[in-house]
Amino acid sequence: MNSFRAVERSLLQMTLLAGPGLLLGWALGHAGFGLAAGLLLFAALQMRQLLRLQHWLASRQLHAPEAQGAWQPVFDALERRRKNERRRRRVLLDALESFRDAARALPDGIIAIDDSDTIHWFNKSAKRLLGFRYPADVGNHLTHLVRSPRFVQWLGDARRDEVLMDLPSPEDERVRLLCRLIAYRPGFRLLIVRDISNLMRLEQIRRDFVANVSHELRTPLTVINGYMEALEPEEMGEFAPLFVQMRQQSRRMAHIVEDLLTLSRLEAQSVPVDDPVAMQPLLTAMLRDAQALSAGRHQICIEAAVDRDLRGSGKDLHSAFSNLVVNAVRYTPDGGSIRLRWDTTTDGGAAFSVIDSGQGIQAQHLPRLTERFYRVSNSRSRDSGGTGLGLAIVKHVLNAHDARLEIESRVGHGSCFRCVFPAARVLAREAALGDTA
Ligand code: ADP
Repeated sequence: MNSFRAVERSLLQMTLLAGPGLLLGWALGHAGFGLAAGLLLFAALQMRQLLRLQHWLASRQLHAPEAQGAWQPVFDALERRRKNERRRRRVLLDALESFRDAARALPDGIIAIDDSDTIHWFNKSAKRLLGFRYPADVGNHLTHLVRSPRFVQWLGDARRDEVLMDLPSPEDERVRLLCRLIAYRPGFRLLIVRDISNLMRLEQIRRDFVANVSHELRTPLTVINGYMEALEPEEMGEFAPLFVQMRQQSRRMAHIVEDLLTLSRLEAQSVPVDDPVAMQPLLTAMLRDAQALSAGRHQICIEAAVDRDLRGSGKDLHSAFSNLVVNAVRYTPDGGSIRLRWDTTTDGGAAFSVIDSGQGIQAQHLPRLTERFYRVSNSRSRDSGGTGLGLAIVKHVLNAHDARLEIESRVGHGSCFRCVFPAARVLAREAALGDTA
């Protein structure tokens, strides 16, 4: 109904009410009084409609009351609008309900927190995995409920894109969790918590299996190696070349078993060692080892610019650094140079670098180098006597020392393997008393 017709109806109603009033007034000899009475009646009717409208708007009734005159289209339009709004609201509520059901059905715990780590919302699985209570824990601080120091440190860490593995559930120690943080709107993040107990159990079975197999292989290999070393190729006559190859492969097998046992020991080490480790003797030992392996084929030097030491495991650090030095000698052609550098970083940490002028590594291999048995070129590194486990050991040792491995390399120019330790792992020289050489 357009506004023209509404005005038309109004005028008609006014005429219908004022007209008889006017006629009645004229008949009685008071035309003015009759007109006024008619208009008053008209105004009273409008007021009644207005009150009806107001009453209906204040109620939750869907259907508008009966209206007269120009009010009819207004009531109809308002009723249509109310119906549309109700329909839209129902659709929105359905969508919200379905989202809530989906979040409730998820096996992962989901917790919405703000920048101050205050809990705003969580789903049913969060209750099960973390022992949260609804609604008591909404508005609580997350670290008041999950108090593990590892979790608190991870949550406060700037590098929040990293996942937190193997967190024991505050509800049940046997349940192991994986945590991940996702920013979903400014100032808000979702904490996703996944039960990885089965995965951790399988991982433990794998670790035990590798450790047991390596351990069982060690004794027979030691015996075989012992006999091989006792015999001389010259005594083998026509089988001499075969024997040399057997001896080489048996030595390699013994190295692989030793490296696997080292990895198993590192993986099983739950409490990180925290001894003072003197760097000067360690660097000297590295230089000695490198020179012995190189046998004069390379120029090797130490560039120790700082008098800083480390906190950690001297034995493991020796093993990690030694793997880098052995690789540098192995993969640098005769006449090349190898530098062992010990310097500080801008944030108060320190770094041990092994820089060689060797064959270098193509960029696509760099991210995978620390995987077990990953090799750039299989034949070449096997010929060089490598086990494919050296850099995996380096990575494990550095992880246990909160350190990271940075690799830069250019094919044909050489490589730089840099172990970067955080300030918390670095000591002023006089504090370190141990000698790891
Ligand atoms: P491997 O025992 O085979 O040396 P690692 O885990 O120590 O195993 O190293 C993995 C691979 O990385 C090696 O096979 C080699 O191809 C490459 N690599 C390691 N260090 C160097 C280096 N200094 N220069 C060139 N390539 C290297």
